[in-house]
Amino acid sequence: MTGAGEWRRILDTLRDGRRFLLLLHVKPDGDSIGSSLALGRALQKLGKEAVLVCPDELPESLRFLPGSDSFVRPEAVSGPFDAAVFLDCGDLERAGPARPLADLATVRINIDHHLSNARFGDLNWIEADAAAVGEITYRLIRELGVALDRDMAYALYASLVTDTGSFAYQNTTPATHRIAAELLELGVRPQVVAREVWENRPEPALRLLGRALENLVVDPGGRLAWTRLGQEDFQRVGAGPQHAEGVVGYPRSLRGVEVAVAFIEAEPGVWRVSLRSNERVDVSRVAARFGGGGHARAAGATLSGRFEEVAPPLLDACRAALDEDGRAPA
Ligand code: 5GP
Ligand code: MN
Repeated sequence: MTGAGEWRRILDTLRDGRRFLLLLHVKPDGDSIGSSLALGRALQKLGKEAVLVCPDELPESLRFLPGSDSFVRPEAVSGPFDAAVFLDCGDLERAGPARPLADLATVRINIDHHLSNARFGDLNWIEADAAAVGEITYRLIRELGVALDRDMAYALYASLVTDTGSFAYQNTTPATHRIAAELLELGVRPQVVAREVWENRPEPALRLLGRALENLVVDPGGRLAWTRLGQEDFQRVGAGPQHAEGVVGYPRSLRGVEVAVAFIEAEPGVWRVSLRSNERVDVSRVAARFGGGGHARAAGATLSGRFEEVAPPLLDACRAALDEDGRAPA
């Protein structure tokens, strides 16, 4: 259970400690980056040391955030730490190469909003109805008694915007909007975040989208749509897997579609699969069957092999989930 006692112990640990390690997940997104930047800055304002570790390259779209140049690579970190804080990591594996660093800390704190969270921390705070970990981080910072500044506000706003698709997804709540309103009062310019996060795209990304739209397949019945970007597509337009961000939104946007899938061949024979649903199907359950996970409306997994081998079982699992949904009472 996630109870008030656990929350207090997390606050006490953050107040009492001096040196903290902040860990985010592989292929970090706006939520994990924004949350760690904001919490790191809050801890620094309390006179503590916070080391922010990024297991992968920071996406171009988030480098506008103040402090985003302060992330270090796992191999550059040395302990000890009073606590390691995992942000937005549904399980330990999500921390990737940074995972062993947690052993340098006395206490492991796990702060997340994935329903399936494995509760791998010594202290766990899992709020599945928080739209973003940024919402939880916002409250942590408030309760630590740190005044939010504009840099923290930008970081938290980026977290909310990315995980809610600009306040468009089902996870958006009145609380999300109230926090966002306060962040705007602190000086965040929403158009700056929207432009940086969703636009400012390099040309290869748009050319790649063209390929993804050409490769679109719609299942008979129209409730399942998918696309693929293989190595040949990347080579044709001079793009890399980092340019495929957001592609799954296009099959999802199709009229009548409930489940959308994008197969991205990140390395030869390694397929990053993005799953989305619009209203009903829990795609995190489909992803979990293939070693991945995520949320009900947004999930992912990684599959190895040729497309012709890896795609059919996953698409069949999507069809089965859609059939099951069709049989359930509305
Ligand atoms: P995306 O499709 O944007 O890569 O991922 C969507 C969501 O699915 C992420 O926010 C994350 O919650 C989840 N996710 C993606 N890939 C994985 C994975 O390999 N394992 C787990 N546990 N979750 C994933
Ligand atoms: Mn998140």
